[in-house]
Amino acid sequence: LLGTNDRMADSELQWTLGSGWPRVGRSGTITTKDEPYGLPGEVVERYSRQMLMPNFGVQGQARLSASSVVVVGAGGLGCPAAMYLAGAGVGAIGIIDRGDVVDRSNLNRQIGHSDDRVGEDKAVSLVKTLRALNPAIDVRGNSIGLTPKTAIALVSDFDLVLDCTDNPMSRYLLNDACVVTGRTLVSGAAIGCEGQVTVYSRDEESPCYRCLFPEAPPPSCVGTCDAAGVFGPVPGVIGTLQAMETIKLLSRPEGSRALIRRMVLYDGADCSFRTVKLRSRSPSCIACGDGARIDVATFDYLAFLGCSISGSEKMSDRARLPVDPCHRLSPVDFRATLRSSTCPLLIDVRPRSQFLMCRLPDSRNVPLSELPGQLDDLRRSLVHPETPLMVVCRRGNDSQRALTLLLDAGFTNAWDLIGGLDGWRSECDPSFPLY
Ligand SMILES: [Zn+2]
Repeated sequence: LLGTNDRMADSELQWTLGSGWPRVGRSGTITTKDEPYGLPGEVVERYSRQMLMPNFGVQGQARLSASSVVVVGAGGLGCPAAMYLAGAGVGAIGIIDRGDVVDRSNLNRQIGHSDDRVGEDKAVSLVKTLRALNPAIDVRGNSIGLTPKTAIALVSDFDLVLDCTDNPMSRYLLNDACVVTGRTLVSGAAIGCEGQVTVYSRDEESPCYRCLFPEAPPPSCVGTCDAAGVFGPVPGVIGTLQAMETIKLLSRPEGSRALIRRMVLYDGADCSFRTVKLRSRSPSCIACGDGARIDVATFDYLAFLGCSISGSEKMSDRARLPVDPCHRLSPVDFRATLRSSTCPLLIDVRPRSQFLMCRLPDSRNVPLSELPGQLDDLRRSLVHPETPLMVVCRRGNDSQRALTLLLDAGFTNAWDLIGGLDGWRSECDPSFPLY
């Protein structure tokens, strides 16, 4: 029974395409009708601090409350952006995520979630946070995610779109859907110490994302916070700027100027903000160029992106590594070999920062980039030429590169761990730290 209630509660937090929400079936906007003293008391209390600003005022609040936005991505950018928009009283907020669940490693930056929600659907978790922050607005989540088939319909149900995603597929898809539907796109990105934000408008000769980046980046150049790391406040800064741009675009305060045809670059390392001017719309752009009309539903995004869905190292490189499969061991076999060998040499080829966080006992850190220069040293470290040389990395990709190097260098008894330390965790020891 509890399970049924949980599902009912979850369905009340979600919306599905075709339900009409948020165009129909959403809560009323603010009104002075039947109110003796102007705005309802709760509206004055809740929004007075922004309505006090003369260029925003009651009119700005009324515009926000009548507006709908969709935040795509319930992560490091989406959390702060959506939380400020909820607090400001945007009338309807949709949260789209691709069904990811909250992971403890998200919480340094994804502040709309919490430790007691680890394992919970991210869109649902963020919706709960936004409703707690402001019960007077209408907030719903969608965990199906954007696809070429659904993007146009999803986007056109809202007045404005925030790109808070972290992968090229979503960026191009959202861009194209916004171009076709004429929606303004408030776009943010953050990784490591750096972030950027801009607004792609359909006015003022604004370029679209494709005008600036007509070619997809090679998969190897696409970083993710998962692989490269990120300081939490960096997406916090960028997501917050996205919220501010959205509030301006929706409420149109006098004297304000949206970040159109300009991009702000933030570098947390030296706390610098730079604003660069962007090129104008490209007449040859396949999305927004002269006479162009991209068919989002049939455009082959996978082919355009070089067949890398997420652009992450996880899946893209695996198929291309020409490594001898006979020298690869499952986690269980890897452990058995470690235990049965005399003084095996266990090499961990991850970057030092990762090795210092967690590692297998008695392993030695030789980052992949340093391996070619350490081959002689390794040879000397082997107690016997036939001593097994065991190689691990995070997920089993870099260890294959290392293995290839070692086999080529004549280490005939070299082995690597399939699935890396992630695989070790799932098959040998769930207490090995996950990151
Ligand atoms: Zn364009």
